[in-house]
Amino acid sequence: MLDLNADLHCHSTVSDGTLSPEQLAQRAKSNGVALWSLTDHDEVGGQERAAAAACAAGLDYLPGVEISVSFAGQTVHILGLGVDPDDAALRSGLADTRDGRSRRARAIGESLAAVGIDGALDGAQALAGNPEMVTRTHFARWMVSTGVCRDTHEVFRHYLVRGKPGYVPQQWATLRDAVRWIVGASGIAVIAHPARYRFSANEEWALFEEFKAHGGRGVEVQTASHAESEVARYGALAQEYGLLASRGSDFHSPGESRVELGMLPALPAGLTPVWSALQSRIARAA
Ligand code: AMP
Ligand code: MN
Ligand code: MN
Ligand code: MN
Repeated sequence: MLDLNADLHCHSTVSDGTLSPEQLAQRAKSNGVALWSLTDHDEVGGQERAAAAACAAGLDYLPGVEISVSFAGQTVHILGLGVDPDDAALRSGLADTRDGRSRRARAIGESLAAVGIDGALDGAQALAGNPEMVTRTHFARWMVSTGVCRDTHEVFRHYLVRGKPGYVPQQWATLRDAVRWIVGASGIAVIAHPARYRFSANEEWALFEEFKAHGGRGVEVQTASHAESEVARYGALAQEYGLLASRGSDFHSPGESRVELGMLPALPAGLTPVWSALQSRIARAA
């Protein structure tokens, strides 16, 4: 089961990806994915299309979402795998989480204008496939398209991050609420890309402890932003905390993402894959 080609983390035009759910399903199939999940940020609006496209392409499918959470002064992402996308509490929690993004987008535009970068809000909005989901990724893509930066990684070094122009802090969901929405919708909560956060050892310990106490059960071990040593480190932490291990490319766009959909190495031996606990939630391809 460990060597199943599962890709349980990616984004469509419903959040900050550039491919539609249908295009992603096709790409997953072509790349040899056997079990797929679309995990748009703070939004389950693409789930019906993704499930239908997965079924048509002959792919097993798990509904998913990636929820933005504020924890210890940073943004943490929590994946909800196997969630029921029609669950009312989940939908209303996500709607509240999306709320305020428009206000933040305006403030980002003003902050960039203050350093001489004009028209960013209009530019980002024009690139967003979902008017409720204008993200920093859309600002970054617009800044690349206008030549302010060479690529989105350069944007995130010089803009849109704490201490740089275009940074606007945002209060996201609490860890407790995000895990509750996921568990209440029959899903499994998973800490996404843990190596990306800049926590002290104590803060990271608190994140894992509180996450477990609220009912969280998994950690993403194999993902594009993890170096080999980080895969090993979080694999060991998964065992130490008794957490299920997840695997997902976090694919956003061809040419922009470092790892193609379905092209990650397998999970390290000895871990229990999160999909072993989600068998009843999988929509099986015909
Ligand atoms: P937001 O939810 O609007 O704050 O946007 C967050 C998104 O920005 C993430 O989901 C990533 O897709 C993107 N992002 C954040 N930091 C980076 C980075 N260092 N390099 C590339 N993309 C990033
Ligand atoms: Mn993203
Ligand atoms: Mn993320
Ligand atoms: Mn993601």
